[in-house]
Amino acid sequence: MTTTLDRPAPIKPNAIPKVGIVSLGCPKALVDSERIVTRLRAEGYQISPDYSGADLVLVNTCGFLDSAREESLDAIGEAIEANGKVIVTGCLGAEPEVIEKAHPKVLAVTGPHQYEQVMDAVHENLTPPHNPHTDLVPESGLRLTPRHYAYLKISEGCNNRCSFCIIPKLRGDLASRPIHHVLIEAEQLVRAGVKELLVISQDTSAYGLDLKYAPQTWKGEEYETRFLDLARGLSSLGVWTRMHYVYPYPHVDKFIPLMAEGAITPYLDIPFQHASANVLKAMKRPAKQDRVLERIQQWRRDVPDLAIRSTFIVGFPGETEEDFQILLDFIREAKIDRAGCFKYENVAHADSRDLPGHIPEEVKEERWHRFMETQAEISAARAAAQIGTTQDVIVDGPSDEPGEFLARSKADAPEIDGVVYLKSDTALQPGDIVSANITDADAYDLYGNAV
Ligand code: SF4
Repeated sequence: MTTTLDRPAPIKPNAIPKVGIVSLGCPKALVDSERIVTRLRAEGYQISPDYSGADLVLVNTCGFLDSAREESLDAIGEAIEANGKVIVTGCLGAEPEVIEKAHPKVLAVTGPHQYEQVMDAVHENLTPPHNPHTDLVPESGLRLTPRHYAYLKISEGCNNRCSFCIIPKLRGDLASRPIHHVLIEAEQLVRAGVKELLVISQDTSAYGLDLKYAPQTWKGEEYETRFLDLARGLSSLGVWTRMHYVYPYPHVDKFIPLMAEGAITPYLDIPFQHASANVLKAMKRPAKQDRVLERIQQWRRDVPDLAIRSTFIVGFPGETEEDFQILLDFIREAKIDRAGCFKYENVAHADSRDLPGHIPEEVKEERWHRFMETQAEISAARAAAQIGTTQDVIVDGPSDEPGEFLARSKADAPEIDGVVYLKSDTALQPGDIVSANITDADAYDLYGNAV
């Protein structure tokens, strides 16, 4: 959970209207929160760091898993109790009846990426300040991430219909942003000091399909609104660029040379979810998985330092022990560098609820542990292979130890992957990219010295 409401502060009478934000859920929701914060600041509202100093509180909810829905409802309750004036937005906002039943006192409920409606609800409940130009917003907008990295959202929604997922029901079909808008935003972020761009969407490889890959002009050059041209444009900005949620559609092969040239960070986040054809079929996953292993091996030959992150679900309805073994063999053979693993959860309104062969909880639990043990071995082998190498790392900030900093290698995305514990004689700043000698490793993290 990301929140701006950490420290208590007194209420100032007659002050500029202040809005508190509680942002729950994934990086995509965080980007929505950033956009709302940017709009609020552009109109002259201030952002309050605590409930008591806020004139009203916006709660950006997540509605993906039942546990996230519970967390969202709890956060709304906490905000009502602490402040009283609460507007709800985000994924769970697509089901206003659930929110209004649990919390009849909420002032308004809007759905995901309904920025206009959120602003309308704020205006209705908190009059904007007289002079909207007293607070100037930087052209890069306002962000909730540290200054040196930023999420770049390229589209909303999804055209796929994976049986376990309700995102298309919550967020609708794929709606891509025109490529010049994305590239202009990326350029502004880089100008504002961002050193690492994290490209996010629900299905990054499908980018532009809904816009029929419409061509646009950026810096005098033509770019089609499609994944490859996006990568080409971003690679010209000279910062680390990580691609998240890339499905292994055939055209992804054409993107690999950009990583081989060093133009794009050699990191691919591909949510495979499973490897058994039976389970993938029941999941209704996009992108053919045929030859995926072969293709990954070719990618690794072309880009030897490629890091692949993925997420998997174990205990999906109908998953047999044989299917599960296929999954373990896949992560071993593909040498998946980083993996998140979830036990299948019966999400409300998901089609997979109706599938036959639901797996007992204790079997899910047992498979999850076996998966994590296998993955820890793969990650540890990868980490051990880094000892003795020299590589660029990006600094996130000081660690708790004097003379030590927290950094990340190109194989580590912020918040989800490992870190590099970096000793340095000189003070380093967040966003510094320095060369590091890697001297030690454990299962997920590396240790090294700045050179
Ligand atoms: S690709 Fe599948 S899992 Fe991902 S958002 Fe679309 S429907 Fe959901």
